[in-house]
Amino acid sequence: MAERKVKSIAVMTSGGDAPGMNAAVRAAVRMGLHHGLKVYGIHSGWQGAVDGGDSIEEMHWWSVGGILQRGGTFLGTARCDRFRQREGRLQAAVNLYRLGIDGLVVIGGDGSLTGARILSEEWPDLLQEAAALGRIEPPERHTTPTLAVVGLPGSIDNDTYGSDMSIGADTALHRIVTAADQLASTASAHHRTFIMEVMGRHCGYLALAGAVAAGAHWVLIPEQELDPRWHQKMIASLKRGGDAGRRHNIIIVAEGARHPDGLPLNTNTIKDVLDRRLGIEARVTVLGHVQRGGAPSAFDRVLATRLGAVAVENLLIYGADEPPRMLGIVNNQVHATSLVDVVEKSRRVGEKVDEGDYESALDLRGLSFQDQLDLLELLTRSKPHEQAPLGNILVVTAGHDSPGMNAGVRILTRMALDSGYKIFGATYGFEGLLEGEIRELGWMDVSGWAPSGGSELGAGRLILGEQDLPVLARVLAEKQITAVMLLGGMDAYENAAFIKKHQTEHPALKIPLILIPASINNNLPATEFAIGADTALNNIISALDKIKDTAGSNKRAFVVEVFGHDCGYLALMAALASGAEQVYLPEEGISLQQLADDVEMLRVGFERGKRLSILILNERASPAYNLDMVQNIMEEEGGDLFDVRSVRLGHVQRGGSPSPFDRILAARLATAAVETLQSLEADAFDYLCLGLSGKDIVATELEKAMAEVDWPHERTKQEWFMELRELARIL
Ligand code: ADP
Repeated sequence: MAERKVKSIAVMTSGGDAPGMNAAVRAAVRMGLHHGLKVYGIHSGWQGAVDGGDSIEEMHWWSVGGILQRGGTFLGTARCDRFRQREGRLQAAVNLYRLGIDGLVVIGGDGSLTGARILSEEWPDLLQEAAALGRIEPPERHTTPTLAVVGLPGSIDNDTYGSDMSIGADTALHRIVTAADQLASTASAHHRTFIMEVMGRHCGYLALAGAVAAGAHWVLIPEQELDPRWHQKMIASLKRGGDAGRRHNIIIVAEGARHPDGLPLNTNTIKDVLDRRLGIEARVTVLGHVQRGGAPSAFDRVLATRLGAVAVENLLIYGADEPPRMLGIVNNQVHATSLVDVVEKSRRVGEKVDEGDYESALDLRGLSFQDQLDLLELLTRSKPHEQAPLGNILVVTAGHDSPGMNAGVRILTRMALDSGYKIFGATYGFEGLLEGEIRELGWMDVSGWAPSGGSELGAGRLILGEQDLPVLARVLAEKQITAVMLLGGMDAYENAAFIKKHQTEHPALKIPLILIPASINNNLPATEFAIGADTALNNIISALDKIKDTAGSNKRAFVVEVFGHDCGYLALMAALASGAEQVYLPEEGISLQQLADDVEMLRVGFERGKRLSILILNERASPAYNLDMVQNIMEEEGGDLFDVRSVRLGHVQRGGSPSPFDRILAARLATAAVETLQSLEADAFDYLCLGLSGKDIVATELEKAMAEVDWPHERTKQEWFMELRELARIL
């Protein structure tokens, strides 16, 4: 591999804007400066590269301050037809070369990345041509005339090959799900049907994930081949739902959905069908650009920050003869794919859809698309299939409640009923269970549960003791329970481990138990994410955004205390997603020296004109230095230069409607729970913990999972997110 050493880089955003692009630019700029590179920002995408002059601006540390939480892209973006022509690219190459730029980070969709690929391929020829025309000095012979290019997927449609999620898609999903929840509440007051059109010309991701998360009743996406009798099927399904007591319908349609003959299927056609055949007046809502707008979600900020930072590190190790690449996120890890492949494969899905080859289109999208379609098909039924009875499942939500639990119980219930189980819910966790407070759950009992926060069943924090076991065994025997599904945090895991230990003493306890991780702290073993953590993180960053807005022109530092128990997940992610100056984690503790250093850092910052600083403190970061003490020390040591305020976010963190990510995670875990149960031998009594590992839901033996826990800290020994610690420090 030929050596090369990138010295100057430029960062740009291009094509359709996507929330989170700013976070990527900020991370790339700061990472570049951190490594001693000269960094430029190119305004207005390829147009700025062609225009040169003021459009290519040198970036400093402060140039990207205060932009992390803003939607859109502060560099601006544009479409540029001149760049599609060689003449335009020649001009862009001249502009970049004259500034000594030899590395480029391009954040955009397929089109923008295609442009990047072509520019990098043509670069040596373009420079030769420019030199021959006298527009640049000939490149020195000993330098390698290549342009190192790294692309990042920036597109709300989530249609880029090579990344499980593109920057902006999660935020768009937030907008869609919020809108669907709001429509659902008015629709149910008036027994209405709403048809909601969402973005996605060739990609049904937003429609499909939005429908699963919002609990919509029908979905139409481009990758799906519609049955010629699709309207009859839809009408029949909606009618059955109404007969079963459903008060409203939400239909989500991707803008690229098609008739069986391949022609576009617009929302008015669907409305006509409903009006005429069902005799109801359906309302159409086209969400449009709302989906692109507003502050990026926590997920998008963290994703974009990770990708932006690694993009620069990647440029630094880029060999001269290596092809340009795109960095994406695959299985929760940053992953490089050649740009040629990205562009080629992303284009192919669109072509397959256009050709009506839906099966290949779905294949190219990966398996989970089909899984989600199947799940939706099941959920939108008005009653389960008739099946031979399989047994009685008991579902318990234990420990603290966590946003997304209801979405999980809703799907557990319907999956279980559809497979032939009866399902019962314990009221108030183990507390109610020991009192025998159990109710049977029917198909429509869980209707409308997807958006609700907390736990509809009620959760309780009882830790079981030996005296409870005979009672528990009696209650389970009375209801002839054959399996338990337990949703909760570390309390639930401990209770499960306790029951398992005494299982052989009580025959009624010799039944399988499946644990579904649900805890805002995200401290559970055998999973990378627990249900509720994403919602809590979004609650935290929206509070931090508000704090930033109120601070005005004062020189003020805020120390903000967040939940997490002994696990720093929420604190660290909140720091990355909000651009906090410092984060105090229980994994690291706090020393007096560190507080002194941080006061010094604040002092230097405020002297240089900084107006606001955020420091994030996990609630148990230090047994000695609590929130009040940290505030007092900083206030005292900071003197007159700045004020210090403390904010304890408290229970707002666990409140509110679950985020789309949490609802979808809950749906996947619940589906897997029923499938796992069905896969067990008839007389099995396994205790299994479900979890998300990369893209997959995996089941781990409870004992093995518990061995991953670091006691008494109640967090795992290996915390994947601590890989991001250094990044928070640098940025
Ligand atoms: P997106 O990046 O969101 O897919 P576009 O498809 O509009 O958006 O592409 C953005 C810009 O990328 C275009 O305006 C053009 O400047 C450049 N671009 C797109 N396709 C090509 C191509 N085939 N060759 C050169 N440049 C291209």
